[in-house]
Amino acid sequence: MHTKTIAQLSAALRSGEISSVELTTLFLARIKQHNPALNCYISITEAQALEAAAAADQRLKGGDATPLTGIPIAHKDIFCTEGVKTTCGSKMLDNFIAPYESTCTAKFAAAGAVMLGKTNMDEFAMGSSNETSYYGAVKNPWDQGRVPGGSSGGSVAAVAARLAPAATGTDTGGSIRQPAALCGLTGLKPTYGRVSRYGMIAFASSLDQAGPVTYSAEDAALLMNVMAGFDERDSTSVEREVPDYTAELTNSIEGLKIGLPKEYFDDGLDENIARVIERAIKAYEALGAVVKEISLPNTALAVPTYYVVAPAECSTNLSRFDGVRFGHRCDDPKDLFDLYTRSRGEGFGAEVKRRIMIGTYVLSAGYYDAYYLKAQKIRRLISEDFRAAFETVDVIMGPTAPSTAFKLGEKADDPVTMYLSDIYTIAVNMAGLPAASIPAGFVDGLPVGLQVIGNYFDESRLLNVAHQYQQATDWHLQVPAEFQ
Ligand code: GLN
Repeated sequence: MHTKTIAQLSAALRSGEISSVELTTLFLARIKQHNPALNCYISITEAQALEAAAAADQRLKGGDATPLTGIPIAHKDIFCTEGVKTTCGSKMLDNFIAPYESTCTAKFAAAGAVMLGKTNMDEFAMGSSNETSYYGAVKNPWDQGRVPGGSSGGSVAAVAARLAPAATGTDTGGSIRQPAALCGLTGLKPTYGRVSRYGMIAFASSLDQAGPVTYSAEDAALLMNVMAGFDERDSTSVEREVPDYTAELTNSIEGLKIGLPKEYFDDGLDENIARVIERAIKAYEALGAVVKEISLPNTALAVPTYYVVAPAECSTNLSRFDGVRFGHRCDDPKDLFDLYTRSRGEGFGAEVKRRIMIGTYVLSAGYYDAYYLKAQKIRRLISEDFRAAFETVDVIMGPTAPSTAFKLGEKADDPVTMYLSDIYTIAVNMAGLPAASIPAGFVDGLPVGLQVIGNYFDESRLLNVAHQYQQATDWHLQVPAEFQ
């Protein structure tokens, strides 16, 4: 039962083959068995889950169930969940019980989904390996000596090890897609503004976006039907109709125009990964798609630009964690200055401090024009590259990440190498576009992800394109040996 997709579990719940309480109990047992090794969950909300599952069983009997009613789900610990510890992977919030619910998690609860717990993540979502978490590293279920990717590493490892049938993640520069690639799952970062950020602890507000982590594109569509939509409590959420994301999954992709950016296939890409991606593109051609080389000339500027914009925004967003309004407070402060400096010094980890320092520097009066303003201008150029590309192609494809999962500790002391893990994903956030990562094969037993980038609000097409590939292949259904 634990290897079934949500679409299959939903059918099993409706037919009465299994109840939500049974299904939830099964996943809770798997979490207890495997979480000590994998460390994917920070909090396990067992009592609350069993209560929600019992309510879901009533609802399933009553006939007003949604496709997610009774389905267990894990939420990244970046979403505020009322009455439940919400840490964002930081010591700063180790004692924080959220007093309100994020829109995203509230929508899942309203649909009848059952929250199993809150998942581990890089501290304040800053990282590509899940090693910056105050709660320790998460292990990749495919090889426990390796990282699962980050920052949504806990969510992704939980789903990959079948400790949850699906999870939520957030993606500021690649944090859904890169771990999905490294753990062999389907992950979707929607268009900026498609999913409400209300109650999602802010990292870089102009880039952050929540999305689903699932086995299949079909399951991602089921989650998107719940997550997407306007929210008057988020001023950046877009008032635009939400399509039925499952409606177009089965459309033919005959004649689909795929753009392959030449900058995504240059020397920085591992040649074994390149071969996997080329084979996936061939599979698309066999399904009737046409391929065209394109150019995104400003690709190389995306990572450096992001590391001006994202730290700038995080330095302002994280100023609220001062030991007074929010967050950890040091013992016996001498005076106010001592309270601020020691509380922040003790509460934040090294990577978060590094970003805050970069951010305050690039925003300071003497350097604003040279760094922040310049970065905003380059950001526009990056968006223009995509705009021009989408005049001639329907989707853009390439690798999600430049390598497969790396060893724990391998890049932890080398921030710049770590930052380059997101070389193919970050430009998408800078432009605000939607993109998915889908499992496309393995190199030496480790999963490889194919990235599919779409035009604004074209999530239905991305899911359709992913689903058609998943009808022709079974990479997305592979389960690591220990978790079958
Ligand atoms: N790895 C990138 C960073 O550390 C992206 C993180 C994210 O998408 N949240 O900023």
